[in-house]
Amino acid sequence: MKLVFIGAPGAGKGTYAQYLREKYCIPHISTGDIFREEIAKGSELGRRVKEYIDRGELVPDDIVIEVVKKRLNQPDTRNGFILDGFPRTLNQARALDEIVVIDAVIYLNVSEEVAVKRLSGRRICPVCGRVYNIYYEPKPRNDEKCDYDGAQLIMREDDRPEIVRNRYRVFHETFKPIIDYYRNKGLLIEVDSNRSIREVMPELEELLKKKGILRIKPCKPDIKPD
Ligand SMILES: [Zn+2]
Repeated sequence: MKLVFIGAPGAGKGTYAQYLREKYCIPHISTGDIFREEIAKGSELGRRVKEYIDRGELVPDDIVIEVVKKRLNQPDTRNGFILDGFPRTLNQARALDEIVVIDAVIYLNVSEEVAVKRLSGRRICPVCGRVYNIYYEPKPRNDEKCDYDGAQLIMREDDRPEIVRNRYRVFHETFKPIIDYYRNKGLLIEVDSNRSIREVMPELEELLKKKGILRIKPCKPDIKPD
């Protein structure tokens, strides 16, 4: 089950990926996470990547491709994987075709209004790091205070409505060529991500089974999407 996940901020990409990772024991490979880890470790790669990020530039294709190639050679990818954050250019998409045969590209399509509501409702506890949402579960029990330690919850700068709208637009500009590329190859599976994962996930798993993409047995069959 070799999958690429594409979705705007607020589409729930992380939630879907986490569910499949836990249930089927396949790795969730996020290039952003790999870069953050390498920077934290202070590795040679981390130092190179940090230079671009500090200048506010994108990490060049050749570095990103090299990192993904190395990661996909690890033995834990044998039964499948979820690629997240890659490819984000046509050049990267073509390079990926040289590295591995992708089974499907899951495009979580969310409307701008739903994305704004999901993200602008998010509140984080500065003390324990728990994440709440004032519109969806888990909601804080009283006001905007943490259920566990009573700390005043905060909103991340990135989650402010005007910033979410901008991130949403940038996503569509960036990913339109990638979405078209995979649609033309017949690999794109578009999911209506305005609905809850509880509704969408069973349908998606059925579809992947029907297409012969989901052939592995769950390692944790009892995990439910929520
Ligand atoms: Zn807390």
